[in-house]
Amino acid sequence: MSDPEGQTPDPAEEAEGAQLASDPLSPEEARLALAAVAAWRANPKAAVACPRCGREGLAIVDRSARPYAEWHALSCSSCGLDVTLHIPLTPPSS
Ligand SMILES: [Zn+2]
Repeated sequence: MSDPEGQTPDPAEEAEGAQLASDPLSPEEARLALAAVAAWRANPKAAVACPRCGREGLAIVDRSARPYAEWHALSCSSCGLDVTLHIPLTPPSS
């Protein structure tokens, strides 16, 4: 039997797509969070609505480790939302 990973990966790091480190978001909130990051990247100076409470003023910090993955820390002072959004990047084929 073969195990290419060599060890059992942390299930929290195995999830595909949006990945959150702390407060779990609902699937709808995760979708809104991704949309918020996309809007923020398109216009960093624009106010971004919180995916949980909907109030503008969501704080987004880019912690990306390109070209491997994008990490965005999202925090909201209105509802206390504090999550990290992980957007895996497709690695270049070799
Ligand atoms: Zn909020």
